[in-house]
Amino acid sequence: MEKVVYWFRRDLRVRDNWGLIRAASRGPVVGVFVWDSAVVGRAGRFGQAFLVDSLVQLREEMRRCGSDLVVVRDLEELEGRQVVCSDEVGVFESAEADRVGAELVRQDFLVDYDWRKLPGIFTKFRKEVEPLGAVQVLGVPELRGWVWDGEECLLDQLAEEVSIVELMMPPGLRGAAWRGTWFFSGLEPVPVSVYKDTRNGFDGWNSSSLLSSYLAWGCMSVREAAAEVRRCEDLYAANDSTYWFILELLWRDYFHYLARQQGVKMFLREGIQGLELDWSGGDELYDAWCGGWTGYPIVDACMRQLAATGWMSNRGRQITANFLTKVLNVDWRMGAEWFERNLIDYDVASNWGNWQYHAGVGTDGREFRVFHPVKQAAEHDPASEFIQKWLPELAGVSAKEARIPGAHCDVVVDFDEAVGVNRSQYLARARNSKAGS
Ligand SMILES: Cc1cc2nc3c(=O)[nH]c(=O)nc-3n(C[C@H](O)[C@H](O)[C@H](O)COP(=O)(O)OP(=O)(O)OC[C@H]3O[C@@H](n4cnc5c(N)ncnc54)[C@H](O)[C@@H]3O)c2cc1C
Repeated sequence: MEKVVYWFRRDLRVRDNWGLIRAASRGPVVGVFVWDSAVVGRAGRFGQAFLVDSLVQLREEMRRCGSDLVVVRDLEELEGRQVVCSDEVGVFESAEADRVGAELVRQDFLVDYDWRKLPGIFTKFRKEVEPLGAVQVLGVPELRGWVWDGEECLLDQLAEEVSIVELMMPPGLRGAAWRGTWFFSGLEPVPVSVYKDTRNGFDGWNSSSLLSSYLAWGCMSVREAAAEVRRCEDLYAANDSTYWFILELLWRDYFHYLARQQGVKMFLREGIQGLELDWSGGDELYDAWCGGWTGYPIVDACMRQLAATGWMSNRGRQITANFLTKVLNVDWRMGAEWFERNLIDYDVASNWGNWQYHAGVGTDGREFRVFHPVKQAAEHDPASEFIQKWLPELAGVSAKEARIPGAHCDVVVDFDEAVGVNRSQYLARARNSKAGS
């Protein structure tokens, strides 16, 4: 039997890994991770630090299963070998798999769906796939290894090359198991069963699941997460929260299928709608947004949290993406790139898909939805604890004062005026584009 390389990409686990199971059925397997691949290139300093530790843990697991994991610098090392890998979405990711002639195995999805038929609206997709039914999780395959005969680089050396950052969550398989245990069985009430009430938190371990980094790097599969929800439902009861959590996992599937369907359009300025907008906001506004100096406290607190930790909540991502595009009128792709460079849980489909959605050029209808930063802060951070944590210059003022634009620095634009101008532009262009299509 021929020696097989299982090329790990964003599926850093041995359990419930379809690709690894396929590779094991072909012959003796060694796992390889390519450091200079699109996957690593797209990860920022937090992502890379998370990745190195996750690889160390994956290597331990592969050895326990009778094989090994090696890390190589160059994709060339895979050329001419029998390579199996997961069919990751992303233009560069696909090109790399083609280059080494890899056998592609279906990527980690919760539901089976023909992406060619994917509707442009999430709700339609959701209705088609519901009810979901049982979720099957595959076990750990039996592996036989072989001794790697190419160049390899040492994980210790990589650990020295990546930036030293403090990770807010423990990486890898152990981190995934730890956080999964907390979320699906830790406390009373079990966090997943109150998820609908906690999911909009900005900060802290008691808000949403914080599983995204494990899902994005594949330390946990999406089906493992869904199967845990089903287990909780059997043990306790199904409720709105358990339903809502699965719904969020479906958003992930949706954006991944969308990326497969739309290919390069995921990255175009006019988005998948082909809507040409005049993104007139310049570098100064963009820099103020990145650095957390727009003068809008909730926006700045979220942006500073991201820069310091590599993490931002879903609520924070919505507010800041909406602010960059609808208020500052800055090209949404610059925001997507900033998130790409900073998020630990960066995932090409979820990031670029969500950004398009908020910029109004993606899957959302052609409306101009605005998140008001003061109202958002009042609703989701009523005591201004989060704002004051990340903007210490506001410590000591009342919760209400801490939300007021200009409280910690001058505002870069007037909210009402900017929104008025940008809304008119957007609606006029959307009308013309509809008339022309
Ligand atoms: C502008 C923008 C950019 C984003 N970029 C990313 C990204 O690069 N990587 C990423 O994983 N998520 C991204 N998201 C989606 C979402 O914000 C994060 O998945 C979520 O905040 C992660 O926290 P959690 O694990 O606690 O989520 P939970 O609320 O606990 O949700 C559970 C899981 O469902 C999935 N999920 C939840 N919401 C979404 C969504 N809107 N789209 C896709 N999947 C979702 C994630 O895998 C998440 O871990 C982005 C959202 C926005 C608005």
